[in-house]
Amino acid sequence: MRYHAIVLGVGGMGSAALYHLARRGRRVLGIEQFSLGHEFGSSHGVTRIIRLAYAEHPAYVPLLRRAYQLWREMEHEAGERLLFLTGGLDAGPPGGQMVTGSLRSCREHGIAHELLDAGEIARRFPGYRLPAEMAAVYQAEGGFVLPERSIAAHVTAALARGAEVHGCERVVAWHAQGGGVEVRTDRGSYLADRLVIAAGAWAAQAMPELKTLAAPERQVLIWTQPLRPERFAPATFPIFNMEAEEGRFYGFPIYGVPGFKIGKYHHRGEQVDPDRMNRGSDSEDEKVLREAIARYFPDANGATLAMKTCLFTNSPDEHFILDLHPAWPQVSVAAGFSGHGFKFAPVIGEILADFVLDGGCGRWDLGLFRLGRFAR
Ligand SMILES: Cc1cc2nc3c(=O)[nH]c(=O)nc-3n(C[C@H](O)[C@H](O)[C@H](O)COP(=O)(O)OP(=O)(O)OC[C@H]3O[C@@H](n4cnc5c(N)ncnc54)[C@H](O)[C@@H]3O)c2cc1C
Repeated sequence: MRYHAIVLGVGGMGSAALYHLARRGRRVLGIEQFSLGHEFGSSHGVTRIIRLAYAEHPAYVPLLRRAYQLWREMEHEAGERLLFLTGGLDAGPPGGQMVTGSLRSCREHGIAHELLDAGEIARRFPGYRLPAEMAAVYQAEGGFVLPERSIAAHVTAALARGAEVHGCERVVAWHAQGGGVEVRTDRGSYLADRLVIAAGAWAAQAMPELKTLAAPERQVLIWTQPLRPERFAPATFPIFNMEAEEGRFYGFPIYGVPGFKIGKYHHRGEQVDPDRMNRGSDSEDEKVLREAIARYFPDANGATLAMKTCLFTNSPDEHFILDLHPAWPQVSVAAGFSGHGFKFAPVIGEILADFVLDGGCGRWDLGLFRLGRFAR
């Protein structure tokens, strides 16, 4: 049997691609090396930030508008909530990249926002204790999505439309042949017209051309017991991205599991092999996050409840890689999400389905995400 498309990797992006292909009536097979919903990749840990004002680059905003729509559609389809709005703060020095980048995207795309000083932030959101020299852009559309539930929802909806999914099966090789592809796994081999590579931290294993372009990096998250839990509820504590002296942090109100959750971008700068990464955490990991909690969120500085490791896959400019394979147009790739991809998962799935069906994606300007930018 020959598939229209095979999706290599059924994580955040692969599950969404699978769904959008099945929704458009394609015979599609998703192959995942671990059990669905596993904790070895990039899409676990209960919550992921979503925000519309986007300090990273204004070009993301149109994709985000579509992502918000698709999140709501998937909630309807799945019959459960996947997206929660809490408001969001992009905080940092007023002249820093976080605040100026966020303001730029608001201005270019007409996004309603407020610029708050540290005193106003503490009055409105008392869980925050930012120094006087910091400010923040507040956006009402900030919030979080649920990564594990999202993967389950996309896979369930894809299966209901006839998709096939093989968990616990590892792709060991693929070959382009006669306009299609042959994909070999540790269990068998399959033929398809198209291949979608959505392998997360394993992207460079699946496509060696990405070796220097999709670099896996170890990350650590912590959940702590708030001393004043009422200050860290979804109704009282907006999600945040914060450019601080110590680095860039992000965090969430209490949701789903006990505790206030915080992480630091590029935690300890550890480039890793995803098959050999240390998935435990230690006191050094904790210290990096504790210092920020003590300084900026002192009412959350109670006992440690949980820590988890996770993987970023960084591209050199930290923008996504969304493109066709340079040699084989029947192969498309979504990689290098650089620690900020999950909120986009449904729209990335839609783009990947466009790649499969049309050999391109006419509906968006994807210039920022093309592989060719690294060759210049
Ligand atoms: C700690 C942390 C916090 C983050 N916070 C945010 C946030 O707040 N907001 C946000 O938008 N983004 C955030 N991100 C980034 C976001 O989670 C990732 O961009 C996104 O999860 C990447 O999805 P993916 O599909 O590329 O990877 P994954 O979900 O890891 O999926 C890749 C899948 O491919 C499978 N695979 C790989 N190779 C093979 C093979 N050979 N055969 C079969 N299967 C294979 C893997 O097992 C895996 O399941 C965060 C990431 C981390 C680690």
